Amino acid sequence: MPNLPKGSKSGFWITPVLAILSATCLAQAPNPEPVSDQETELGQAMYKQLRDKGEIVESSPLYDTLKPIAVAIARVAQPQYPHPFKFFLVHEAQPNAFATPGGNVYVVDSLLHFVKNTEQLAGTLCHEVSHTIHRDGVALMVKEQKILEREVVAAILLGPTRAHIIAIALIGKLHSLGYSRDAESKADVTGSDICAEAGYNPWGLTWLFQDFQNADVGKIPQLLSDHPANGMRIQTLEKHFRDNPSSFSKFNRDPKSATPLSVPKDAPETFLRKETKSGV
Ligand SMILES: [Zn+2]
Repeated sequence: MPNLPKGSKSGFWITPVLAILSATCLAQAPNPEPVSDQETELGQAMYKQLRDKGEIVESSPLYDTLKPIAVAIARVAQPQYPHPFKFFLVHEAQPNAFATPGGNVYVVDSLLHFVKNTEQLAGTLCHEVSHTIHRDGVALMVKEQKILEREVVAAILLGPTRAHIIAIALIGKLHSLGYSRDAESKADVTGSDICAEAGYNPWGLTWLFQDFQNADVGKIPQLLSDHPANGMRIQTLEKHFRDNPSSFSKFNRDPKSATPLSVPKDAPETFLRKETKSGV
């Protein structure tokens, strides 16, 4: 069981199940929860969980590296999503990046040292932002909810405390569950559109895949070990680039054309442990 965020709300998760139950009793369609509110609450619950674990980096020179790339990507992606995109550095064991419903994107600090150039980092961020635009995180939680539906219904009968615990467990799982191959490829394609429009060479993501294909299996970080079939993903991107020459033909596919990423070494980090504003 992950650390339970203090004071987080369970209503967003449990209410739809209660609504289904009451619909069964009353034979009346429930009023759907506004999707936007649900996404924000899911995002906030994940934020609180990461903050309470002391993983969120409040201040670090690494934000100076992340910020200009995040700002450029958010400028292009924002019109496609109703909540503000915010990028947070987090400290975890594996170099990784993940997005949650509500617009928060989390970048593990070591990813900035792991990527070889600006385009690889930008490609990763564009990919994660696209998962949010596609509502992949919400879809994943709905799928998990169906799997656990019997347990959740049982939990409601047992009492709200246990139902709350299950809801929080699902939020924690969002972080570790993998998306479908199809969802990954779609996020690559949308991400490449966003990166190209933001001025970052969209070949960067394919360079990252290629580096991992050549890497020692044991050293592949979760970022891509969760993302199977990288060869197929490269092919899908190459086809997308060929089919849309007006957007992509101007970019150089040669990794030697990459822009170096300036990352301060041994950058000090302060961690967020109480409710203050952070992120870029
Ligand atoms: Zn992904």
